Amino acid sequence: MIAIKNATLIMRDHYIPEAVLFIKDGIIAGYGEMRNTPIPEGCEIIDAEGLYVGPGLVDIHNHAGGSHWFYNEPIEAAQFNLKHGTTTILPTLYFNMNAEQLIEQIDFVREAMKKPEGANMAGFYMEAPYMNPKFGADRENNPWKDVINPDDYMPIIEKVGSDVKVWVVAPERENIEQFVRDAKKANPDVRFAVGHSEASPQQIEKLMPYGLCIGTHHTNATGDLPKYPECRGVCVDETVNYNSGIYAELICDSRGIHVDPYMLRLVRKIKGEEKIVLISDACVFDGPVPPGYDGVTDINFDYAGEIAGSKLSLEVACRNMMKHTGASLVDVFRYASLNPSKAVGFTDRGEIREGLRADLVICDHQLNIKSVILKGEIIK
Ligand SMILES: [Zn+2]
Repeated sequence: MIAIKNATLIMRDHYIPEAVLFIKDGIIAGYGEMRNTPIPEGCEIIDAEGLYVGPGLVDIHNHAGGSHWFYNEPIEAAQFNLKHGTTTILPTLYFNMNAEQLIEQIDFVREAMKKPEGANMAGFYMEAPYMNPKFGADRENNPWKDVINPDDYMPIIEKVGSDVKVWVVAPERENIEQFVRDAKKANPDVRFAVGHSEASPQQIEKLMPYGLCIGTHHTNATGDLPKYPECRGVCVDETVNYNSGIYAELICDSRGIHVDPYMLRLVRKIKGEEKIVLISDACVFDGPVPPGYDGVTDINFDYAGEIAGSKLSLEVACRNMMKHTGASLVDVFRYASLNPSKAVGFTDRGEIREGLRADLVICDHQLNIKSVILKGEIIK
């Protein structure tokens, strides 16, 4: 048994200071205040030295780690994120690939997931194939502009099988309901997200009974749909804000470029503590920094000079969220561990609770990660 002592535990809605936490067989075996929780003889002791212990981070939308894309260097990408505290990650594949390429990538990444060094990869987030061709980085390379056809998409659905956790869709695409139905039939547990879209509230809400419950990078790559020229329309962002059943993904960079700090505060107010999901959406496009973005280092740009995801890892996104909104450590661990776990259906992780997987991070008050534990194994 492992005992982590002298820790402040980050719980879902409070802290436990001066605490000890026990790990047995990769599972959280118990915890409590040190003054009334004796450490049994023979425990391996980790001294947290007064730092915080929180649940491992869960990044459901991430294309890369450091300079490595998941699709061609999955182990390197997974390991980079693991060392930054992300103990669960969904490698994300993008719509700029055609069916053959996506199938190849699924096979390749899945092989890596089976290796011990790929143990934090937990399924796929498919930001593909059917987005609105008007939106998104690298959109000129969208091979999915044609009418939705089962002959095109069924090979991908069959290949990814039950390893897919999320399909992103643009609900305004013709025949999208057929795609959603077939994807759901192949994997009844799968969730859907609205993204790269200018769907109306009605088009989005129509897919909620199938499991649409996530707004992909909320307020990014979404439309406006004004009915009258001088009046603001209602579209994807409004629908995600309105429906309490939809989680809002947020990319939280240091300057508040993906999402303005005021918008972050607004979304936090609207969506509340249970429906915000921080994501990194890390990418490795290496286009030059365009005019107007001088000194920006945590955002990617494509070769057209458009924003193309981030260079963030999730603990940095948490730190930015604290800065921009005044959120506490308890709050950001909810946004980056418990909420994403719930959004995609993991019930064995996401918080400090007896019986859950011992995926943990030890960090300071600014989320500088000192130590990472994955399934009870000390990684860093
Ligand atoms: Zn995207």
